[in-house]
Amino acid sequence: MDSCIFCNIAEGTVPVRKIYEDADMVAFYDAQPQAPVHSLVIPRRHIATIMETNEEDVELLGKLLFKAQQLAVELGCEEKGARFVINCKEYGGQTVDHLHIHILGGRPFDWPPG
Ligand code: 5GP
Ligand code: ZN
Repeated sequence: MDSCIFCNIAEGTVPVRKIYEDADMVAFYDAQPQAPVHSLVIPRRHIATIMETNEEDVELLGKLLFKAQQLAVELGCEEKGARFVINCKEYGGQTVDHLHIHILGGRPFDWPPG
């Protein structure tokens, strides 16, 4: 998807501060961090939202979530914890229509969300 910013990031045509990449995914620092730790994990394949995933994506989803956990540890969130977020569509507050997991840490977060 040429018009998708996260596809372009995955292809390397838009520069980001990468933390990790493999055949399935890329992780990088968010451009507008909302916390001392704010990184994103995205699949290389364009999947618009979590609602578009199906049974065939179970392995990929597991890999993305497990990598988010590993990166949270690497980024110093193991002791105090972190918030792992997947925003979805309008009500979920999704602004980039390419599936991504936010890793947020380094400060406490409120619950319930506003
Ligand atoms: P959403 O609101 O869709 O869950 O989150 C999208 C996130 O992507 C936002 O936190 C936003 O700051 C981040 N973002 C959008 N465009 C770029 C970009 O070009 N580079 C980086 N590093 N982050 C981006
Ligand atoms: Zn995309």
